[in-house]
Amino acid sequence: MEGKENTLEEILSGKFGCGCAKRGAPVYLRRGDVYGETERLSSLARGGRAALFASRGFLDKEGLRLEAAFAAGGAKAEQVAVRRRFDNAPENIGALFSFAEGARLIVVCESECYDVAAYFAALKKLPLLYIAFSPEADGVLAPAASVKIKGRPERIAAENPRYVIVDETLLRRADGGGAAAAFASLSAGLVSLIDYRVRGALTGEFCRESYNLVRGAIADALGAADKADMPVKLLESRLVVAAAENHTCGAVSGGGESAVAEMLESCGRIRLSAAERKFAAALMLLDLYAAYFSAPHGGLLSVPDYAARAKDLAAYTGYAEGEVLESILASAALADEEKLAPAKARLTEEIETLRGWSDRIAAVYRKLGGRDVFGNYTFAELKKAVSRAADLPSSFSVLTLMRESGALDMLANAP
Ligand SMILES: [Zn+2]
Repeated sequence: MEGKENTLEEILSGKFGCGCAKRGAPVYLRRGDVYGETERLSSLARGGRAALFASRGFLDKEGLRLEAAFAAGGAKAEQVAVRRRFDNAPENIGALFSFAEGARLIVVCESECYDVAAYFAALKKLPLLYIAFSPEADGVLAPAASVKIKGRPERIAAENPRYVIVDETLLRRADGGGAAAAFASLSAGLVSLIDYRVRGALTGEFCRESYNLVRGAIADALGAADKADMPVKLLESRLVVAAAENHTCGAVSGGGESAVAEMLESCGRIRLSAAERKFAAALMLLDLYAAYFSAPHGGLLSVPDYAARAKDLAAYTGYAEGEVLESILASAALADEEKLAPAKARLTEEIETLRGWSDRIAAVYRKLGGRDVFGNYTFAELKKAVSRAADLPSSFSVLTLMRESGALDMLANAP
């Protein structure tokens, strides 16, 4: 890379030099003591209230101190306890829709509750403040807020301003809590990155600067593995990825690993978090993508049975069959591998390079105290998840190419 590096503030506010005109909603970074910054930002809630979204456990520990910080700044804060997993949690729907009038600011302190808070903030067009109590920031600042309500995914574009508080002292003290999950979700983004590049080669919609930001952020986090400020580096890297996500309207994230993770949600011996599922999916997909690109596969003769696929996914997920079929056909039309030919050699080389990071990624994850996610699923569960993931609405990844070429059918029929 060349030229002067942008600061995190510049990156978050979208002020990094790149050729494309895309800009996400503004994101403002505040550094410093978490309570002091909260007090300063309480002006955003003046004349109304700040709604504090977090799990009951978190609110029991931190709720009163945060309320006091808002009060010191002249605003009133109200605690809204939500469940970490939104779906099938009636109290979340209750909290979301019965929340009293007069909210001026939505505050969220745990990334697992971010979606719920972001959905509400987007719906009401209110500013959203993320106070990072851990390096976890999965999905934070995403350009669309999405939650499942009674099994139906609901999505809404987030155009409201967003604020993030980063307190280095607090993060360093966070005794490793959340570091493994943060690292897992960050490094899983490598797969999305490959998918972004492949999709970019097919559609021409590609921001090289965003690609390099994400690649560099993951490399930085890997490089900081042995250092004392790892939690800070992790959060900063995650925020850089979030900025690129915001800038590309989400295109740089939400690749194959997210789709497979979604399909694995109800599988496995134990229930894993979204970050853990993405991580398990990502390390598997890195191998799969590399194998697919390095082997000739133009000669595979297969016409996927789209109708059967749509039926299967609809029955498994609750999406409408017609919607699934429509999106399968749209992604199939895009999956023209001949268009990749000019980029193929460099693409294959880059995928090999990124795959080469995976041993170190797995080692760092274990060192940070990450759980064993790899033995959690049977081979049959993984095969099924990979196969179905290709058909999820509005997802396009290397798995789509694999479906079209017949490689997924071959995988599904493998013993
Ligand atoms: Zn750009």
